[in-house]
Amino acid sequence: MFRTALVFAVTCSALSFGCGADRNASEDTQEIIDNLVQAGFPADDIMVVDGIVYTGRDGAVSLAASREMLEVDTSAGPDEQYRTTNLVSRTLTTICVNGAAFTGKFSTALNAAITNYNNLGLTFQMRRTSGSTTGCGATITARVSSGTGGSSGFPSGGRPFNTINIGSGLQSATFGTNTVTHVITHELGHCVGMRHSDFFNRSISCGGAATNEGSGGVGAILIPGTPSGATVGGSVMNSCFRTVETGRFTSTDVTALTTLY
Ligand SMILES: [Zn+2]
Repeated sequence: MFRTALVFAVTCSALSFGCGADRNASEDTQEIIDNLVQAGFPADDIMVVDGIVYTGRDGAVSLAASREMLEVDTSAGPDEQYRTTNLVSRTLTTICVNGAAFTGKFSTALNAAITNYNNLGLTFQMRRTSGSTTGCGATITARVSSGTGGSSGFPSGGRPFNTINIGSGLQSATFGTNTVTHVITHELGHCVGMRHSDFFNRSISCGGAATNEGSGGVGAILIPGTPSGATVGGSVMNSCFRTVETGRFTSTDVTALTTLY
């Protein structure tokens, strides 16, 4: 009974990644949406693009993963940082980011986000391109999407996810360059295997009812050495962002990334 209302009632929130709407919902898509609602995801946290369902965790949600979310997972630790099962191969040294679609504030923020990663001395360097793949071990393409958030996905086959979508709503003057840098850094974080730091209770950063994203079909593995304490503003990988974000990694983000890579 939620189905039509849900798909048509989707609204965008500045506090939530991954909003937008599409009316081409298949039966599987509808079950995924129903499962997400039952799992506690707010309606404005769910979007459907080209038949693929995204949530605030801004990775695509499979039917199996949505069913898994209905299972209560109490094994996840209290509040550290988490990665997906799959990671980028440590032998992959250059991840190119095709920023040809980004201009103005988005372009500036993309450069700053790439610098965030490159300042950490990880096993990979990110290199901005305009489409050339010369010297690239893998390429992530930056796109402008609808909404006021972002979406991306998780690694597979030792390679990062190949796309980040950044909502055009962030072009509003409401959002400073630092906030956009935060969102881009966050989405790139998913591409290299970072889960939400508060995945086990999204209300920490998003407010509202406590919602556990579960393993999401991609795993939620504690990163050794990450300090406890998921807090508002405590990680660039929190589920929801604020307009006052700095656009920089926190100390726990640095620990997480330098431990993985
Ligand atoms: Zn996210």
